[in-house]
Amino acid sequence: MLPCVATLSDPLDGLIPATPRSQLEKAFGISTVGDLVRHYPRRYYTRGELTDLARLHEQDHVTVMARVASVRHIRNPIDLARRVMEKSRHVLLVGAGAEEFALEEHFTLVPNQYFRTAERMEQLESEQRGERVSDLVPPTSQGTVGAVACDAAGNLAAATSTGGMTNKRPGRVGDSPIIGAGTYAKNGICAVSATGHGEYFIRAVAAHHVCAAVEYRGLTLEQAAHELLHRVLRELGGDGGLIAIDGVGRIVMDFSTEGMFRGARDAAGRREIAIY
Ligand code: ASP
Repeated sequence: MLPCVATLSDPLDGLIPATPRSQLEKAFGISTVGDLVRHYPRRYYTRGELTDLARLHEQDHVTVMARVASVRHIRNPIDLARRVMEKSRHVLLVGAGAEEFALEEHFTLVPNQYFRTAERMEQLESEQRGERVSDLVPPTSQGTVGAVACDAAGNLAAATSTGGMTNKRPGRVGDSPIIGAGTYAKNGICAVSATGHGEYFIRAVAAHHVCAAVEYRGLTLEQAAHELLHRVLRELGGDGGLIAIDGVGRIVMDFSTEGMFRGARDAAGRREIAIY
């Protein structure tokens, strides 16, 4: 949640619940804490506004996130990341510690061999011979799966899972498990799952860049995604793509590579899959 709201939440304890949300919407023209802080960006609010904020704060879901990285034996890392989010005090667990947590949570660990398919081994060998492994994605980058979703109440979620870059050094961590780089979600704003050459996405704090551009600069989700991929990352020298959704279910899927496997569906009947 927004830092200023977190800062303000203690003094709210015990304040009388006053203005109903509908009146607040009418008075301020806002419906979320994010709206209020965006429209009235100041450090202190009146007592009445604080009370209203407290009420909104209860209704506006706090952004909750967690990730895992550098795991070698977890079949579905997003399940584990979710468990970290729901059951631990932490946001990011890596390596052996993440797998120990998985065992405590009764996950079944698989041998690392499980991930070695003939196709991926061939890609690794091609890469090591200096050959390009795919026409669709940049060299040394392949295999990320991402999802973003908005539920009927407007709650947003993003998840990204990857084997990382082909032929990477042991110990390398890409953008996918880094909150704000490959993955970010904030209720009322948007959810983003991105991929590409992770080093660039980390440097650009890519997924957060999109959300911040929407939240603080008023760009549409489409404009923010375009700016990130076609200007910010281009200037850094990185290619990639992203999928994103906002709080009313608008979907954006954009990329600066030759193609990106992608699909979308919504309650209004949109059903779409595409590569180019
Ligand atoms: N984004 C991933 C990474 O840098 C690579 C990929 O596209 O799979 O780890």
